[in-house]
Amino acid sequence: MKAILGHKNMDFDCFASMIAAKKLYPEYDIIFPDNIESMVKEYIEKEDIPFEYLFASDLNENITEVILVDNNNLERSGLDTEKLNKSKIIKIYDHHEEKNDIKIDKKNYIYKPYGANITLLLEEIFKRNIKIDEKERKIYLLGLFEDTGFLTYVSLTKNDVEMFKILFENLAEKDLTFINNYLLTDFNKEQLSVMDDLAENAEIFKKNNIKIGFCYAERENYIDNLAIVVQRLMIILSLDIIFVVVRLDKNIYFWTRSNIKNIKVISIAKELDGGGHPNAAYSLIKDKTFVEVKQKVYNLIDKYFLNKKTAGEVMSSEIVTADVNNSVSTVKEKMIAHNHSRLPVLKENSIYGVISKKEIDRLLNHGFGDVSIKNYVDFSIPSVNPEKDINSVKEMMISNQYPIILVVKKEELQGIITIEDLLKEEYPELAQEKIVKNFSSKLKYHFPEKINKIIKDIGKIADKNNYKAYIVGGVARDLILDRENYDLDIVIEGNGIKVARQVEEKYDIYVVIHKKFKTAVLDFDEFKIDIATARSETYKKPGALPDVMSSSLKYDLYRRDFTINAMAISISGEDFGDLYDYFDAYKDLQNKIIKIMHNISFIEDPTRILRGIRFATRFDFKFDKQTKNLLKNALDINMLEEISGRRIKDELVLMLKEDYPEKAFAMMDELNVLDDIIPGIEFDSEKEKLFREIRHVIHWYHHLYLDEVIERNYLYFFALMHKLNLEEIEKYSVKFELTKQFKIFAQQVKTFIRKKYKLVGGDEYKKSDVYNAFRDLKMETILYLAAFYHYEEEFQKYVSLYIIDIYPKNSIINGKQLKEMRIKNGLKIKKILEDIKMKHINDKINNYKEAVKYIKEHYLD
Ligand code: ATP
Ligand code: MG
Repeated sequence: MKAILGHKNMDFDCFASMIAAKKLYPEYDIIFPDNIESMVKEYIEKEDIPFEYLFASDLNENITEVILVDNNNLERSGLDTEKLNKSKIIKIYDHHEEKNDIKIDKKNYIYKPYGANITLLLEEIFKRNIKIDEKERKIYLLGLFEDTGFLTYVSLTKNDVEMFKILFENLAEKDLTFINNYLLTDFNKEQLSVMDDLAENAEIFKKNNIKIGFCYAERENYIDNLAIVVQRLMIILSLDIIFVVVRLDKNIYFWTRSNIKNIKVISIAKELDGGGHPNAAYSLIKDKTFVEVKQKVYNLIDKYFLNKKTAGEVMSSEIVTADVNNSVSTVKEKMIAHNHSRLPVLKENSIYGVISKKEIDRLLNHGFGDVSIKNYVDFSIPSVNPEKDINSVKEMMISNQYPIILVVKKEELQGIITIEDLLKEEYPELAQEKIVKNFSSKLKYHFPEKINKIIKDIGKIADKNNYKAYIVGGVARDLILDRENYDLDIVIEGNGIKVARQVEEKYDIYVVIHKKFKTAVLDFDEFKIDIATARSETYKKPGALPDVMSSSLKYDLYRRDFTINAMAISISGEDFGDLYDYFDAYKDLQNKIIKIMHNISFIEDPTRILRGIRFATRFDFKFDKQTKNLLKNALDINMLEEISGRRIKDELVLMLKEDYPEKAFAMMDELNVLDDIIPGIEFDSEKEKLFREIRHVIHWYHHLYLDEVIERNYLYFFALMHKLNLEEIEKYSVKFELTKQFKIFAQQVKTFIRKKYKLVGGDEYKKSDVYNAFRDLKMETILYLAAFYHYEEEFQKYVSLYIIDIYPKNSIINGKQLKEMRIKNGLKIKKILEDIKMKHINDKINNYKEAVKYIKEHYLD
């Protein structure tokens, strides 16, 4: 008989090696020793073993040929010596120290000093392209883990790790918890489960071939010695650098390790008040929330690794400067010559401040050309060290709206950074001005005649002033998409207010100016036009370079919410109709992608979360991957709580104006946004249906053209909150600044539904019964009920009867007319009027004449 043998006290590594050997040598039989490690024994008893096997004691044949694994000494194989008398060792696969006294051909003694024996056999299996299945994969992993102490023993080699990766990568569901059942020696259950979570939550970045992992997990109780998990995770995920954030009860633990010598992660731990070794550091954080720390670590990774450029690398170093003793006109000349709108000012070769063209022009206007600029220097422009990371510089510029930043080292000016420099940095491929398309012919027919003419006129006015004018944002987007949108937003490079005034002169319109924001609204009755000023004092002068001109437009667009809303179409000059697309928005439009402009966008303005959802559902677009991550991130750190109820309501109202608001609400629900806004509500298919019914009812109502104007939003808001009790509904109506009328409406709906009275007496009903059931209710209440009870045909019948027939009936006689008939008693008047009203509703009395006749017969003697 030919046999595969291992060693006494068979462990998982031996067991796995025997299974693997069977793959290589199918004609050999597996003979397990009788003496087996208890966990392996349990495994064999419980699990399905891929091949037939025998135990040594059940063997009644002699062995002729042997494949020996995880062992190089036949005497240790656990078989009786008499059965081995005539055996010949054909092959040895062993990772124990090589022995020289074995009678075997060198080439058949496969020895490698690997951490686990199974690695040796697996190398052979993979070399021969033999396929393995999930069952085997698990056995091999058990072997590998056991003999390398979960990949931590010093004996571990690169080959073991490689093998582990191959097995792990192919493991269905990448779930290692099965290990837990058989190998408890090293990791305890809790550590293992945290490791699983960490591996699952790992975000892996690659930068210059360095693999960086960011993992996090949470547990309600303290778990000892998680540091060893960190080490192992690094191997499992084959990372060069790892960051781990774990919350245990109220504390947050942070570990980081780097396998790359010159990347010293301790600096990151220090930013979290921790310490350690240069390449392995730790911090315990007590007073912060998990999300805060997560976000902070994320930012640090971003800052240190993903964009490691420094201010010094990004700045423009060929700078034109002014001297503090220069005269105003000298500086003016310099500015014109170099086409700069701001110059750094030096004093004795050290940086002093910045002088702006605006200031210079003002001084010149006052005839101060010969005066020194000294007293007009702006000191508010901040300076940074050349080593400052560019992300912080960016944050600084965006949040404070600094047009430039000085880069200074030891008081000496090294360079300046403009928004332009940042944009080039972020979108290098867009450094060149990029005009994708010309839309002049589309501009001609997209808008109604009148708007068309106004657009042309605004362009001409801009030209006359040497400015540039663009339509930007939503209208530009919708023009490309061929969607009707006449909400013109125009940006002027130049003085927007001046343009607005000149439009006002030409047309007889009402203009509202906001000096502070340099914006204006032109009110043309049927539509409005917003005019804004791009933030730049650079006016177009003959010979001005186009990139200087457009940088202010670029900056204006850069501050917008999504790429698809950050395009501009020129409506002036020779480039009339040209699309200015600096952020590849045209491509995003075609690929149906919603993408934010920069990483802190949602933090800067969380309403963009809701806007994004609105656009995504309106156009049926998808969030770009990074945008979606950042959106979720912003939600994780509760950014929505930062905005007022009023602004949330405004956004919700905008959503309700969409053609299919239920789509946006369903997406809000899916992203857990809804729960952040009104905890406890959800948007399920039932709500979706209710929304649709409401839409139908409102649509129906509008087509009746009744005088009564309704607040359609009430219906939707109430539908959202339908399941809440009145007290909670009141709470949210305060939060969202809904009116008192909304509260009354909500009360009416709640009361009606609670009582859900049988309205009228079946087939026998009179119209006046219907009237009485509805007469005290607001129109919104009735419409809501119609939508809510959409499945009750009879109820629908009553509602339409009431709204179409009964409600429009005006009274045919009034109190004054009764008094003229000498009826003086107030109570009596009231009673008669009510009686007439009912008869009128029931079509028994149809006009004044009939009413008088009836009164005479019944009330006058
Ligand atoms: P709609 O079609 O719903 O009117 P819109 O894109 O025109 O969508 P508006 O609210 O009219 O959006 O705003 C006009 C433009 O202003 C947008 O296209 C966008 O460029 C910019 N914008 C509006 N809100 C924000 C915001 N919260 N953050 C950044 N930019 C914004
Ligand atoms: Mg708009």
